[in-house]
Amino acid sequence: MNGNIFTKDLLAWYDHHARALPWRLERSPYRTWISEVMAQQTQIDRVIGYFEHWMDQFPNIESVAKAHEEQILKAWEGLGYYSRARNIQKAAAVIIQEYGGDFPQTPEDIRSLPGVGEYTAGAIASIAFRLPVPAIDANVLRVFSRLLDIEISVSDKAAKDEIAKQVCQILPEARPGTFNQALMELGALVCSKRPLCENCPVSDHCVALKNKTVDKRPVLSPKKKSIQIEMATGVLLSAGKVLIQKRKPDDIWPGLWEFPGGGIESGESPEEALVREYMEEVELDIIPHEKIGVIKYSYTRYRVTMHCYLCKLTDTAPVTPVFNEASEGAFVLPDELDGFAFPSGHRRLLESMREDVRYSSLFSFSV
Ligand code: SF4
Repeated sequence: MNGNIFTKDLLAWYDHHARALPWRLERSPYRTWISEVMAQQTQIDRVIGYFEHWMDQFPNIESVAKAHEEQILKAWEGLGYYSRARNIQKAAAVIIQEYGGDFPQTPEDIRSLPGVGEYTAGAIASIAFRLPVPAIDANVLRVFSRLLDIEISVSDKAAKDEIAKQVCQILPEARPGTFNQALMELGALVCSKRPLCENCPVSDHCVALKNKTVDKRPVLSPKKKSIQIEMATGVLLSAGKVLIQKRKPDDIWPGLWEFPGGGIESGESPEEALVREYMEEVELDIIPHEKIGVIKYSYTRYRVTMHCYLCKLTDTAPVTPVFNEASEGAFVLPDELDGFAFPSGHRRLLESMREDVRYSSLFSFSV
């Protein structure tokens, strides 16, 4: 590959085709950092709204460090992988305490911040500080697996090392951040899952195109088998309020709120599972009296089918819950629910109730 011509072709294309994304309009280490973390595992179209809302709420590092964790999680609600949001807050505290509020400026110092990996450190260092370091994400791996016609899985260290070596060799000193963004943009817009080779500005440099192996690249590792889970979840209504509880710090989705419920055991109906789970989790005797619906969602390898019910207390049940499986909990008014951050399955349950005429008189949601 002729690095100079490749870089010239790529940058010329990027200068004309780069999307006007909000974090590109005004560059700063903080904005670059937040946008890069948000964009991991998330479609850019979705990130835009979250980013703008985040910047309105937390315009600088200090405001992130000072925020209550609930505010941070609420601003992140729906993006998933909530540890990313928690790490941003931890890193903001480190920047305040150890760097006097100024973003660290070397790739090593940036990399040492909580939650900042090699890719994110490279992106911040090259884009915000113009340092000549690579930023290799899944887009760049895919593009280079084709450009170099790499025959082994891009998850293999050998493939990653080869790609990093190539990127470092051609990274231009003058515009490293723009070059890194151009590679990612090429992967997002042209050399995507279904590549548009006829529109590609670097097709002359592409070995897979020459070898007619584009549809075989990148070589991927075999996917891990997904695991199916059946859950039952109950929205308990009592005296016009709804019971919610907060997940424990060592739980999956720590700090997020949910409706009680849990896994359906072998031989149980969803209703039986819900009665058992309510007794185990909050020591309340409930009746699942109306099926709201079924919500399906995924996280990591898990494919969850969640059976959702409207519940009421039995006539003899105590009304004060004991939170055995949560750090705290409360009965809240339905129109207060939007003030809490829920995992995506429970958020979708709320949204499905909001749209369901059966519950419109119960819930006066505000989006
Ligand atoms: S020619 Fe096709 S496969 Fe090669 S880099 Fe361009 S879009 Fe990707």
